Amino acid sequence: MHLSVVVPCMNEEASIPGLVARLAAAVAPWKDRAEIILVDDGSTDGTWAAIGAAQATCAQLRGLRLSSNRGHQVALTAGLEAAQGERIFMLDADLQDPPELLADMMAMMDRGHDVVYGRRIERQGETLFKRATAFAFYRLLNMMSDVPIPRDTGDFRLVNRRTLDAVLAMPEKARFIRGMFAWAGFSQIGIEYVRAPRELGETKYPLRKMVRFAVDAMTAFSTKPLKLATRLSFASLAVAALMMVYVIRSLILYQTAPGWASVVMAISAFSGVQLLTLGILGEYIGRLYVEAKNRPLYFVADELEPAPPVALVKR
Ligand code: UDP
Ligand code: MG
Repeated sequence: MHLSVVVPCMNEEASIPGLVARLAAAVAPWKDRAEIILVDDGSTDGTWAAIGAAQATCAQLRGLRLSSNRGHQVALTAGLEAAQGERIFMLDADLQDPPELLADMMAMMDRGHDVVYGRRIERQGETLFKRATAFAFYRLLNMMSDVPIPRDTGDFRLVNRRTLDAVLAMPEKARFIRGMFAWAGFSQIGIEYVRAPRELGETKYPLRKMVRFAVDAMTAFSTKPLKLATRLSFASLAVAALMMVYVIRSLILYQTAPGWASVVMAISAFSGVQLLTLGILGEYIGRLYVEAKNRPLYFVADELEPAPPVALVKR
């Protein structure tokens, strides 16, 4: 098998036919040396049926249905583990990442790169809020992270077998795939593209999932938030010391007790710092707990194997 395409799909019923058609065209040069793996991440609509129906139009199609919704990054992991190809191409189901870029990416990999990742130079049709939070996220992530993670880069990429094996060898349960590929190293190069608007359906990343994703990313690649917690504590101690001086001075100079305002402010400021610090500690402890439980990331409920080549079908 030369090429595997991996696509996580959650409630993408409407996108599947168009997706499969464009992917089939993109992998046409590799014919039966290519496979397309669609991972149904516990969809509640007709995604699985749509994958089954699409198989009639595309013999290279394989389907994998997870036992429940495990999230984008785990669904992607499931597909990557099932992939048999020497080169692995991953993209979103909603066609925001153009499958047609595959040819260029393959050519770049032929020149000796291990990873060719897509860099979004423009995001079309996304809300100002999404663009602003994404912009801030990639910059903040790079400030925090111990490994440089390419900015404005999603999971849209072509990787070769040795890089994929490196990433699959990482046992962590909190998956942040693009960071794991960055951490793996090898020779990586970016290709710029314009991110199209989602064609059909709506985003599967509500704010709640975005925040989870961001916290996973930050804590998975850095212990700097822990250091930040320490620094915040020192800073608040310094302020507390100044407050002491102020309070003692006031007690000596004026006989009346100083107003309650400063007390209330001090209490709220310091309890804020304490809660934040505890929260950061909690994030890491929670992660240790999840890793210690060491549960399997997902279960496969159903599999759809490619239709056998016509010559092998019994008459
Ligand atoms: N996705 C998934 N499981 C989830 C959420 C999303 O498999 O729990 C898939 C989704 O079907 C899509 C990809 O992850 O193929 C990216 O999601 P989406 O396009 O909704 O995110 P956005 O582009 O809005 O950030
Ligand atoms: Mg999308």
